[in-house]
This record gives sequence, structure tokens and C-alpha cells, in this order.
Amino acid sequence: MSEHPPFSTGAGIEVNHLTRRYGDLLAVDQVSFTVPPGTMTGFVGANGAGKTTTMRMIVGVLAITDGEVSFNGRPITAADRRRIGYMPEERGLYPKQPVIDQLVYLGRIRGVGAQNAHDQAMDYLDRFGLAGRAKDKVEALSLGNQQRVQVTAALLGDPVALILDEPFSGLDPVAVEAMAEVLRERSAAGVPVLFSSHQLDLVERLCDRLVILDGGRVVAAGSTDELRSGGPRRHRISASTDLGWLRTSQGVDVVDLDGTTAVVHFTEPGADQAVLAEAMSRGEITEFSRIIPSLSEIYREAAS
Ligand code: ATP
Repeated sequence: MSEHPPFSTGAGIEVNHLTRRYGDLLAVDQVSFTVPPGTMTGFVGANGAGKTTTMRMIVGVLAITDGEVSFNGRPITAADRRRIGYMPEERGLYPKQPVIDQLVYLGRIRGVGAQNAHDQAMDYLDRFGLAGRAKDKVEALSLGNQQRVQVTAALLGDPVALILDEPFSGLDPVAVEAMAEVLRERSAAGVPVLFSSHQLDLVERLCDRLVILDGGRVVAAGSTDELRSGGPRRHRISASTDLGWLRTSQGVDVVDLDGTTAVVHFTEPGADQAVLAEAMSRGEITEFSRIIPSLSEIYREAAS
């Protein structure tokens, strides 16, 4: 279910057949997806699937072997890239420098005035529970707190897009919530947000869209609703009588059967209606419902 940019509206970030080789290794292979404005897109895939490599190419810190990146319908420029808030996988803060000095410095590199950078940084530090640590050296902060500073750096200067490489890893639940709220706000303000994560429950809760990479290729991409409705068509059936007859029914794969309850996969159109009619003729039906797959199931299905 990969999507191809020609069908998109052109707004936000578009990645079109992006490819990256490291010697003989094809780390990212013809990857295409969109991150529309105002959406949170989760970027998932096993270790080594190519997420970091793709993000680096989008923000321009890694050369593209082939393919292209567009922003708002035209090839992305260096000026666009300077206005993207990027949180790299390698965290890269200076350990000996006080937190606030470093944030002001990073903000200024991004073109934000010193006072403005200071004020914005203090606001975010406050929201992340770190206002009292602003004058501490980075090295005095725990890893999770350094991560909060790193995300703050990416948020400075009203970025036109956010590309965040595992922004939630290692954060405690309170920090996860604070971070999620900030990202939701940015996304609601029209900013395209792409973040990678191995925490599927979090991705499920936060994202409207999903891109699943496997071995450098997109194996599924689209809105979470689309991906869920395109998942395996499974139903749960509960009845007052034994459902063993389902095993020999046409167009039905029995996934699980326990006397009067069953989980089935309909393999032919119309099989659901036939089964429902048969079940009703045999007794009372107490449940006949479509099982909406979870993100973990979609992920397992797509990446298997
Ligand atoms: P993770 O979830 O572990 O962060 P990832 O999905 O971000 O993984 P990448 O870091 O993009 O994956 O790596 C994709 C592939 O490219 C891997 O096979 C990796 O070993 C390889 N790779 C990444 N960087 C380099 C490099 N500088 N030189 C050679 N190979 C590399």
C-alpha cells in the first residue's frame, strides 16, 4: 500500500523514490511517502530499516544517491532545510556548556534573534520541567533530560517542519506527555511532523499517518485509518451453539475457535453474510464484529 507523490496535494514534505547506497548496501531503496501539513506521521521499522538514513537525506546532512525531496510542491532548497527543526540520532550537545547558552547559540544558527531564542528556549524548558536547570552544564543532566534539551533545540524558531529521530526514546512518562503535547500543537498549527519511534503504542496514540520501512523499502504508508481498514478482515463471532461447523465453511479461515466463540478470516467476498445467515439459523448470535487491527498487528503483517 505504498503511496506515490503524484497523488498528493504537493503541500508539506514529499519524498520521491529516495535512494541511498553505502557501497554495495542499498540502505534506502526507492522510498516514497508524504508528510502533509498538520499531520503527525510516525516512521517505524526494525533496527537498520533505513529510517535515520531517510531522515538525514530529507534534511540534507547526507547526500542522496537517487530520488528527490520536495517541500510545498517544489524541490526542497537549502533555505527550506535551514528552517526545518531536526533532531538527529546522534545527540550532539556540547557537554561543558550551560543548557540555555547552548540553546540560544543553536537558535541563532537557525536565524532566531538572541532574545527571542532565549525566551522560546525558556518557555519550552519550562514545559519540559527543566526551567530550573537552564544554567546547568549539559553534562550535569541525565540522559532523558539532555534529550528534552535536544528536542527544545529542534523546536526553536518556529520550524516549517519537524523531523525528529526517536524523540521519545528514554523519556519518562511525564516527559513523553509534555513532548507529545508540544508536537500535537505544532502539528495543529500546520507543521508537518515526522518522527521515528520503536514505541508502537505511542505512535498509535499520536499519529494520523504512518510509514513502515522494512529492509530500506516502504512496505506500508498512509493514514492510520486507511491502514487499519486495509488490514486483515477478521471477525469475532460468539453464538449460543457450537461453531465447529465454521471449519468446513466456504471462504472462511478459522484463526481461533473455542466452542461457541471464534475468530475467522473471510477469504471470499460475501462469505461474511453467508456465515452470519448460517449462524443465525443455528441459534442465537451474541457477537459478530469486525476486529480492527492494532498498529502492532499492521506492523507485524507489513514487515513479515
Ligand atoms: P535504527 O532503528 O537502529 O536506528 P534505522 O532504521 O534508523 O535503524 P539506518 O541507521 O538508516 O536504520 O541504517 C540503514 C542501513 O544502513 C543499516 O543496514 C546500516 O547498517 C546502514 N548504514 C547506516 N549508516 C551507514 C554508514 N555510514 N555506512 C555504512 N552503512 C551504514
